[in-house]
Amino acid sequence: MNQTDPILWLQLQEQIVACERCPRLRAYCAEIARIKRAAYRDWEYWGKPVPNFGDPNGRLMLVGLAPGAHGSNRTGRMFTGDRSGVFLFRALYETGFASQPEGDRPDDGLRLHDLCITATNHCAPPDNMPNADEIANCSEYLVRTFALMPNLQGVVALGKIGFDSVVRFYLEQGWIETKRGLKFAHGALYTFERAPFILCTYHPSQQNTFTGRLTMEMFLAIFRQAAGMLR
Ligand code: SF4
Repeated sequence: MNQTDPILWLQLQEQIVACERCPRLRAYCAEIARIKRAAYRDWEYWGKPVPNFGDPNGRLMLVGLAPGAHGSNRTGRMFTGDRSGVFLFRALYETGFASQPEGDRPDDGLRLHDLCITATNHCAPPDNMPNADEIANCSEYLVRTFALMPNLQGVVALGKIGFDSVVRFYLEQGWIETKRGLKFAHGALYTFERAPFILCTYHPSQQNTFTGRLTMEMFLAIFRQAAGMLR
């Protein structure tokens, strides 16, 4: 198995954390960190762009939308600290990609195996909706994340925005010639000659998990399928 350059990986994470390209998002994250939610008033919120989390030498990448305002914008670690993360990490633990089924604090020992978690945007957006300029601003980090994962074989796209950002990247790379026929749907799987596969899942937001649109069984099936496809 190839190894990424740990210095370049660290530099990427440091540049993400220091990024100020999107004034609206930076102001929003800082304001959320200042006001806080009552339940977390004792927390020192992270309030900055959230770096990638996981194993850059892994074979699988998970691409979400963006940090949650009181989740990873609070903890500083992708997908931890809110209900979406609770759902996700339970599934990752059950399928062997995480060392434990939960993690709320950065020092809780949670580790990922063979997997790195990233997002279309590294800053929490108001109403979970980055605008087109903000998505474009952050796309460089996705490009560099791909470039620094030498063993990557597949991507799990958590929701349509994550899926669209990966497809856009594949087009820009010339790995695919068209996005015709590539549509987001839960369970949709796309394989390519020159690019890692993309497996789609509904995002584990409360909107989906509380309504039963995404059940744990459905979610586990996605990660079992992804694991089974890794060579
Ligand atoms: S969303 Fe991305 S590009 Fe925009 S400020 Fe945050 S890290 Fe920078």
